[in-house]
Amino acid sequence: MRFDPFRRPGRTDRADAVITGAGSGIGRALALELSRRGGRVVCADIDEDRARATAAAAPGEALGVACDVTDCDRVVALADTARDWFGGEPDIVVNNAGIAQAGSVVGVVPLPEWHRVLDVNLWGVVHGCQVFAPRLRAAGRGAIVNTASAAAFGTAPRMAAYNVSKAGVLALSETLAAELSGTGVTVTAVCPTAVKTNILHSVSFPDASSERLGERLVRWTGRSPDAIARNVLDAVDRGTLYAVPQLEAKAIWHLKRLLPAPYTRMAGLLERLMR
Ligand code: NAD
Repeated sequence: MRFDPFRRPGRTDRADAVITGAGSGIGRALALELSRRGGRVVCADIDEDRARATAAAAPGEALGVACDVTDCDRVVALADTARDWFGGEPDIVVNNAGIAQAGSVVGVVPLPEWHRVLDVNLWGVVHGCQVFAPRLRAAGRGAIVNTASAAAFGTAPRMAAYNVSKAGVLALSETLAAELSGTGVTVTAVCPTAVKTNILHSVSFPDASSERLGERLVRWTGRSPDAIARNVLDAVDRGTLYAVPQLEAKAIWHLKRLLPAPYTRMAGLLERLMR
């Protein structure tokens, strides 16, 4: 944690947290930051070695476990493991595991690619909320953090499967926030633009030029996952529904809400320039 003399301890201090997709990127940064804040962290990932590596790098108590979020039974097993290890329900659950899709327009993106992206990004978060929301509601406290993306409202061309999955995560988070109001459990939807992580490794680009474009975008405009993690945890401390960390993400958010049709025409113009 960066030293801040004005920062008061919040609920992200000494918190028991479960994080999916904790083996890399934003999930790993969140795990390490929560551990620095004195918390105990269950680091879950489909890649068990990476989950364990994050746990081993944490300065405090941390457990690395395998969990594929596309399988709801595995998410139930994760919740049970966490309850046994903490001796109670977690304070914070981060449904963060995700993959990306980019480069092809609707009609060209193969259907198995749609299923792959929706299975992890949307169903993974549905499973996390389905399993953990009743447990936290019963505990009468806690925070559910869902990693969406600015893609949820930015809806850039050639990313339809990703955009749809993240718009679903945003809608789910908003619905859940209303359903959990007054229960002591808050919901935060995280909506970053580019972040310097390994996410592009999960993309099957249709050609080399789309791959180059993706890499440049992340390299030139991407924020560090550590900065995003601090921003997310500040939002959790405040109980804020929307964590929109970057300036350009905020600009897209406001533009899309104020001028939705002109925004989409502008996106169409960019798409035509790319052809
Ligand atoms: P990353 O690739 O660095 O980390 C994602 C982690 O999720 C990996 O460790 C991967 O093994 C894990 N994972 C993938 N499928 C899984 C599954 N089925 N079950 C469990 N774990 C699984 O990427 P990241 O950028 O840190 O991504 C984290 C989240 O942030 C994702 O939901 C992503 O969509 C979102 N996001 C990323 C960016 C960005 O530019 N990097 C921007 C906005 C939102």
